[in-house]
Amino acid sequence: MPVRLRSVNLIHGFERFLLSIPNWSCNSGEIVALLGPSGSGKSTFLNILGGRVVPEEGKVWYGNKLHAKVPLVPGHYRIRMVRQDFGQMPYKTVRDNLLEFAGIRSEMSEDRVVKKWIKDLNLAPSLNEKARGLSGGELQRLALGQALISRPGALLLDEPFSHLDPAHKRRMQDILKIWQSKSGASVVMVVHDVRDAMEWADRIDVMQDGSIVESGTPQQIYQTPQTLPMAHAFGRVNNFPINEVNDSLKFHSQSFTIGKNWFLRPEYLRKKDLPLNSKFIESEFNGNISTEIWQSPDNSVWYIRA
Ligand code: ADP
Ligand code: MG
Repeated sequence: MPVRLRSVNLIHGFERFLLSIPNWSCNSGEIVALLGPSGSGKSTFLNILGGRVVPEEGKVWYGNKLHAKVPLVPGHYRIRMVRQDFGQMPYKTVRDNLLEFAGIRSEMSEDRVVKKWIKDLNLAPSLNEKARGLSGGELQRLALGQALISRPGALLLDEPFSHLDPAHKRRMQDILKIWQSKSGASVVMVVHDVRDAMEWADRIDVMQDGSIVESGTPQQIYQTPQTLPMAHAFGRVNNFPINEVNDSLKFHSQSFTIGKNWFLRPEYLRKKDLPLNSKFIESEFNGNISTEIWQSPDNSVWYIRA
C-alpha cells in the first residue's frame, strides 16, 4: 500500500547553503512539484527524502517507518528515486538495466515485462545495446522505466523531462500519469518550468535559498502568487507599482499584489482598460495563444490576450 511521505524540521547545510524545511508531506496519490531556481536546494531536499543524504537535523518518515540515521539501504525500499545523473550501469544492456530493480524471478515474466515497457518507453531498437551508448533522452526514458517497473510506493523524480524532446516529454508525462493514478503512489517531482507542473501537480512547492517560500495548488499559484518569480513565471503579465494604477484596475477582481507591485494577467485586461491613446505595438504568437503588446502615451507597456 502506498503511504505518506513526510519530513519534520529538516536542516542541512553546505558551505554557503542552508536547507531549512520545518514540516512537509506528500500523501499517497498526491503529486507535489518542487520548483525553484538552480541552487535553491531542490535536489538536496529530494536526496534527503530519498534517504541518499542524511540531514544534520530532522527526520523523514515513510508511513510509520523512520529513515534510519546510518542506513544499510538508504531510505526505504519502497521509495525510488530518479536522479539528475540517471545512475544507470553503463556496461549493462538496456534490458538488464530495465530489469535491475524489477524483482522478477522467471525469465518468462521478464520477457513479458520488458516487451511491454520497452515499447512504451520507445527504446525497442536499443534493447540489447549497452546503456553507455544511449543519448541523454534515451537514458532519461530508461531511468523512468527502471523506476516505474519496480512499482515504488513513493517516486522521487529530479527534473525527469529535462533531456526529452516535446513529443517524448508528452509521452512520458502520460505514462507517468496513468501509472500514478493506478498505483496511488506519492510522487515528488523537481521541475524547472512551472508549466510542467501546472497540468498535473496537486501542489507546487516553490523553493528559494533552501526554503519553501510558497506552496499551493497550480490554480492558487497562478491566480494569487506570493512571490515575484511566480508572478512572472507564466510569461507576460501586466505589472506596475500600485500607486501608478488607476482605481478601477487597482481593485480589479483578478488583480493581485505582491508588496507594492500590482499585477494583472493579460487575459483579464480589456482594450477599454488601456490608458487613452495607447498604441498597438505588436502581437506575440506563442503556439496556441497570442498576446498583444500596447504602449501608452507615457510609455507604459500593457499586455492583452488577443
Ligand atoms: P538545485 O537542485 O535546486 O539546483 P541543489 O540542492 O543541487 O540545488 O544545491 C543547493 C546548494 O547546495 C547549491 O549551492 C549547491 O552548490 C550546494 N550543494 C549541493 N550538494 C552539495 C555537496 N555535496 N557539497 C557541497 N555543496 C553542495
Ligand atoms: Mg538539482
